[in-house]
Amino acid sequence: MATITLPEAEVKETKTQETKKASTGTKYVYFFGGGKADGDGKMKDVLGGKGAGLAEMTNAGLPVPPGFTIQTEACREYMRGALSKDVDTQMDAALARLEALQGQKLGAGENPLLVSVRSGAKFSMPGMMDTILNLGLNDKSVEALAKRSNNPRFAADSYRRLIQMFGNVVLDIEKAAFDEVFDAKKKQKKAKMDTDLDAKALQEVIAEYKKVVKKHAKRDFPQDPHEQLVMARDAVFRSWQNDRAKHYRRINNIDDMLGTAVNVQCMVFGNLGETSGTGVGFTRNPATGVKEFYGEFLMNAQGEDVVAGIRTPVHISELEKIMPDVYNQLRDITTRLEKHYRDMQDFEFTIQEGKLYMLQTRNGKRTGLAAVRVALQMVEEGLITKEDAIFRVDPNQLYDFLVPRLDEKKTKIEVLATGLPASPGAAVGQIVFTADEAVKKAGTGTKKNPVILVRAETTPEDIQGMEVAAGILTSRGGMTSHAAVVTRGMGKCCVAGAGDIAVDEKKREMRVKGQTFEEGDWLSLDGTTGRVIKGKLDTIPPKADDPELLQFMSWAEPFRKMKVRANADIPRDAIQARAFGAEGIGLCRTEHMFFGEEKIPHMRAMILADNEKDRRAALKKLLPMQREDFAGVFKAMDGLPVTIRTLDPPLHEFLPRREELMVDIALLPKYSAKQKKELVAKYKDYGVKGVNDLKKILPGLLARVEELHEFNPMLGHRGCRLGITYPEITEMQARAIFEAAVDVSKKGVKVLPEVMIPLVATLKEMQNQAAIVRRVADEVFKEKGTKIDYMVGTMIELPRAALVADQIAKEAEFFSFGTNDLTQTTFGFSRDDVNKILPTYLAEGILKQDPFAALDQEGVGQLVKMATERGRKTRSNLKVGICGEHGGEPSSVEFCYRTGLNYVSCSPFRVLTARLAAAQAAASESLKVEGGRTK
Ligand code: ADP
Ligand code: MG
Ligand code: MG
Repeated sequence: MATITLPEAEVKETKTQETKKASTGTKYVYFFGGGKADGDGKMKDVLGGKGAGLAEMTNAGLPVPPGFTIQTEACREYMRGALSKDVDTQMDAALARLEALQGQKLGAGENPLLVSVRSGAKFSMPGMMDTILNLGLNDKSVEALAKRSNNPRFAADSYRRLIQMFGNVVLDIEKAAFDEVFDAKKKQKKAKMDTDLDAKALQEVIAEYKKVVKKHAKRDFPQDPHEQLVMARDAVFRSWQNDRAKHYRRINNIDDMLGTAVNVQCMVFGNLGETSGTGVGFTRNPATGVKEFYGEFLMNAQGEDVVAGIRTPVHISELEKIMPDVYNQLRDITTRLEKHYRDMQDFEFTIQEGKLYMLQTRNGKRTGLAAVRVALQMVEEGLITKEDAIFRVDPNQLYDFLVPRLDEKKTKIEVLATGLPASPGAAVGQIVFTADEAVKKAGTGTKKNPVILVRAETTPEDIQGMEVAAGILTSRGGMTSHAAVVTRGMGKCCVAGAGDIAVDEKKREMRVKGQTFEEGDWLSLDGTTGRVIKGKLDTIPPKADDPELLQFMSWAEPFRKMKVRANADIPRDAIQARAFGAEGIGLCRTEHMFFGEEKIPHMRAMILADNEKDRRAALKKLLPMQREDFAGVFKAMDGLPVTIRTLDPPLHEFLPRREELMVDIALLPKYSAKQKKELVAKYKDYGVKGVNDLKKILPGLLARVEELHEFNPMLGHRGCRLGITYPEITEMQARAIFEAAVDVSKKGVKVLPEVMIPLVATLKEMQNQAAIVRRVADEVFKEKGTKIDYMVGTMIELPRAALVADQIAKEAEFFSFGTNDLTQTTFGFSRDDVNKILPTYLAEGILKQDPFAALDQEGVGQLVKMATERGRKTRSNLKVGICGEHGGEPSSVEFCYRTGLNYVSCSPFRVLTARLAAAQAAASESLKVEGGRTK
């Protein structure tokens, strides 16, 4: 056996070289090896996740190549531009200790020590620096390695990989510059695979690579191993600040100030021949949660080869046949790790000439489905308690239960590629390569054919195709690519950036894994895991009453104290929300009811009316329709409260756009008969019955549109201002509400109406509108001879309202924070225009998060807190809730709980998430655990 850089080399006396306490007193470097580590698994803040895992595994006596971790404080110092000298001294001492332990010298001597330099922050961050392997190789040590291993090809291959990785991640040279050289060499030697290049060819590659370095970096590839090490370490520190890493931290809400640790570790080689290999795995299936050993490996390969997709990895069960002993040892170790961490593990291993080494272990990322299942299993297995289980699922992940998924039980699946899980759900369909083709093939009605739109990248021109497609697959682009963003908005399954797939739009084919797929071939996508699967799988429709989900929720729910309601405008959504566990409607937006086909003409007539009489006539027509809508919602929510907001948006939203009208008027004389007919249809709601009406009606319509035009509608004639200037609107709505309430309650439905006045800033406004509502209620009750309990309250969405909440509470029986508007008005941001500003603000770190996605607790949150307190000073039993996007966002839900709100209200599809978030918030308080959620 070629004995090279073997970590199990006899342990030398190390006492004299113990890491010295630095003068500042800070311990920057933590050693692991020889069965003992300075740190342990709990020190993630200091050692990062990877370093903590390596320390813990070492302490547990597992076969881990020795090394040392430079802790995160060093990274923070580096960012501040003041890296302590002690870092260098301690690092050198640790290196000396490592060399002594191994009986080797870094990159020197007959048996040179080689190391990997690996980044590793507290939370695993794919956006950060790539690992550098084989560090320590140079023109001389490569010779020694060749001799020692008796394998010149292996040595040359390791060296060229080092130059390539070092060049790319330390010296910032584009990967392509190296790829060009490599591909040219392959072509020249007529080599198909990388492995077809022999030692001589690889030596030529090395010579070329060095030229690439010289040309791009204006310096030579450093031959001094120690210099290599220092440069690599600093590159890891810098990578904490690169754009990818910053972006990742932002979307995952990770603190910028944490910093990363650097792990320096003895190399072990999976590419030493047929008894060597490398692989990755999970102790349970991370997609489905099924308890099975899950993973992939490659024989005669190094590091990233498994994930890079250059060669096709083999399922881990094959390892049992090739090397049963190693397989059993791996199973044994990973089972122990899972027991030890009491969570599913994601691990990396390398086999060097028949000997197994563990390179990493961490709590594995998983889908929501798997998270729930694994939590249930582990409770059953006695690994964790039910209370632990509650925190094992990220509330956002419950969304996975509400989208269709692939049925993986029936058929053996072939995963063609794995891209980014850009938009969850499943899609099965036939491939199309253009948006037009998608529209053509997809069909409509009963003749609908599911299609998968496959593109290199999507652009706004593809929208129509995306709309009709069952799912989208792209080979380029990230989580924020056009395809990803648009599909998430549509609630449609998307796998993005599946880089292994070559999409040839001209030839209309897609190539992957040596197979070619054409238009019409079947494909199955799993947007929850990013998998692209060959063929036509069945899908399982979403089930909110999934027995495992119910079981899990039954453990979390008893802790929850805050109610969860839904925002729903129509009975169908209300029924849906109730099925997901909503305990009422927190926001029913009445304007949405006016958009129905038979309603909008009357709505428009109401708006166009320039006097009260005409307006009342139009409102009278709307009344029965609105009453019917309310009755439907009341019935759906039998026994639960329903908050109905009076008309809120500016009226011109219901009218045609000013510019469009102007164009139509100007071009009218030139329009053909056909075009004029189209215009008649377009304007029929405004009283246009024939072509001759166009000339008469359109100018008047334009005049009214001009009158209603506002420079800033968000701050304009809307909310209670509408109801105050046109009291008959509030009157009609109140009448519809109470007539519906009385009608359905006579049929035995329990109704609990809460009438909510929007955009109130002063007590007088509130009094004005409440007076109308109460008067109409009395009228209706008298007419019908029945009374119903109801409440009148307000939305708090203006800073002024929060300031004078004590006054407003004299009139308002409840508050509901409209945090979308409250965020707009507190920041002075218009939600519709903020996207010009926000990307820069986030990139510069001026804002940490999109305040429209997660409640700005520091600013807007103060208003929420203050208004709640002031309101309750006046009215101690004031019911307080929140509606708006934030009501379904876990960190905002937690804030609402801490602030003492009675409920949060969110869209039906976020109700489950909000329920779990509220339960976790309460549970972590009563169990005194600090959000121990798996990240
Ligand atoms: P990542 O965080 O991207 O997973 P890692 O630091 O874990 O990066 O390393 C990337 C790859 O290199 C992994 O496959 C890992 O197993 C391998 N690797 C890292 N260090 C060593 C080492 N000392 N010997 C052999 N392989 C290593
Ligand atoms: Mg890794
Ligand atoms: Mg509002």
